[in-house]
Amino acid sequence: MKKEGCIFCKIANGEIPSKTLYDDEKFRVILDLGPIAKGHALILPKEHADDLYELPEEIASDVLILAKKMAEKMKERLHCVGLNLVQNNGEAAGQTVHHFHMHVIPRYRNDGRKINWVPGSATEEELEAVRKQIVE
Ligand code: 5GP
Ligand code: ZN
Repeated sequence: MKKEGCIFCKIANGEIPSKTLYDDEKFRVILDLGPIAKGHALILPKEHADDLYELPEEIASDVLILAKKMAEKMKERLHCVGLNLVQNNGEAAGQTVHHFHMHVIPRYRNDGRKINWVPGSATEEELEAVRKQIVE
């Protein structure tokens, strides 16, 4: 299903042109319009899902296989020496386009880009409390 007014539905299904790297019946992979690094790409499922929570499991597992294929292509063609997979869900997590997508970001030696966070801290008791909250 497509979602009315969703820009990534339109791009994924070819209604709006894009710099396409890969296309099949389930996915389109495009270059990000605002790349953080050369080759920054987005994996878009053709069926609309707002985010990971809405994504069917079968598509979710195909996404990682496709990400691996794209990673290999980037390494071979762009000679990147590292790669980030980034996938934001919800505004609190920085998602700005509410159609599930995975960022595939090639990285280069000393490219100066920052995707990493500054580590926080937690006591053993805090870690145990959150572990219980999640699984018990
Ligand atoms: P998010 O913050 O939701 O994880 O990432 C959205 C990404 O989509 C951003 O990196 C942004 O540059 C990219 N983007 C937004 N609109 C368009 C568009 O119309 N075409 C392409 N190719 N990328 C887009
Ligand atoms: Zn959509």
